[in-house]
Amino acid sequence: MTVGSPASLSRPPEPLDGHSPVVADEQSRGVGDVDLRRSPAASSVAVRSRFRRQGRRDTAPELAVRRRLHARGVRYRVDVRPCQETRARGDLVWKGRRLIVFIDGCFWHSCPSCGHQPHANAAWWAEKLAANVRRDRRTDAVLTAQGWRVLRFWEHEEPDAVADAICAALGRELSAR
Ligand SMILES: [Zn+2]
Repeated sequence: MTVGSPASLSRPPEPLDGHSPVVADEQSRGVGDVDLRRSPAASSVAVRSRFRRQGRRDTAPELAVRRRLHARGVRYRVDVRPCQETRARGDLVWKGRRLIVFIDGCFWHSCPSCGHQPHANAAWWAEKLAANVRRDRRTDAVLTAQGWRVLRFWEHEEPDAVADAICAALGRELSAR
């Protein structure tokens, strides 16, 4: 949607829940010589830090959006698995409205504006990140088929703009800001 300020690009990745780096299921198996069930040795402090952060909930971008929604009187549930058909957990979920919001970490979900591919262990990372994107698209397809509206935002997006879009999807007046 919107592109964040350059200052936001230096923020470390704050990935979504449920995206553990080494998952031994059929979805995470790589192609060719790349075995996604084995993670490469962390090549740097930055990579180690990334792995530690992966799967954390309540990330700073999520909290920023939630604060704005709350201030507008919008109530929501967080970190919810919407239905049995997917293992994905939405960052913000309205089950009655069948609306689910993901705030995707720029690194783990390969944001075209600020996602980047690590140089060390490049082949492993390329496959890993591509697999994440494929899983996101499968999740979208499954949820859409179940009648859910899926909204995805990047963590670099302005929280006010994200809140605007969510309110619009909920059919709320934006003048309540
Ligand atoms: Zn981004």
